[in-house]
Amino acid sequence: MSCLDEFKEDWSYDDPSNWHERFPSARGNFQSPINIKLSQSVIQNYPPFTLSPKCKNRYLYTLKNDDHKLTVTLAKENKNKNQGDLWVRGGGLTGTFHFVNFHLHWGGHDTHGSEHELSGCRFPAEAHFIFKNLENQEMTIFAFFLNISGRFDDENTEWKKYADATSLLKNNGDKYNCIFYLSTLMPIEGNKFFRYIGSLTTPPCTEGIIWTIFYNVIPITEHSLNLLRNNVMRESCRPIQSINDRIIYRNFDR
Ligand SMILES: [Zn+2]
Repeated sequence: MSCLDEFKEDWSYDDPSNWHERFPSARGNFQSPINIKLSQSVIQNYPPFTLSPKCKNRYLYTLKNDDHKLTVTLAKENKNKNQGDLWVRGGGLTGTFHFVNFHLHWGGHDTHGSEHELSGCRFPAEAHFIFKNLENQEMTIFAFFLNISGRFDDENTEWKKYADATSLLKNNGDKYNCIFYLSTLMPIEGNKFFRYIGSLTTPPCTEGIIWTIFYNVIPITEHSLNLLRNNVMRESCRPIQSINDRIIYRNFDR
């Protein structure tokens, strides 16, 4: 038995329909991801988001292969010093939400890979940024769809770095430090987004998550997605869950 086995969480993308056996929340009525039907979403006037000015700065982050995805957190050496620098406010959120981590979900082929769907349309990948209100532990996830760009000069430079690092992150537990600009990874320009209440899309599938799904799509190349597929894992996305009685809001007209 390897020394990592005791830390390995007992779930995989081979059998998402069985996650509830070990993680009961996965069977709840407010699960994510969902299909966001644009025509059925309700217009709501949310104030714009404010990102902390330091989201534009460069910071050292640590990428880690956790056997399910590549999760990126602030590097240990500056975590205590800089954790308070990266936050979001506004957009209908109550209080200040601090950066926790970001990661990507992707599919084995370009025909799927995003966790959410937009009016039934699937994208090849979806980025998640987790933010937490440290006063009440509420969490919001900023999500962005990624789509294939045929042009290398059009690709988002920061997501290219994320994909390029995978050659050093092939095994569970592998880590690598890299500089990122959070505001470039997370282009909220235009501020068009959807809002609904759902869950984490990985076990324990905890509910009560405030989802913010941006309309702005991030360009990535096929080459970068192939690096993720070949170096880390073939695919990492949970199937669509029932909306049930939930209302999906949007803050834009069309
Ligand atoms: Zn995620």
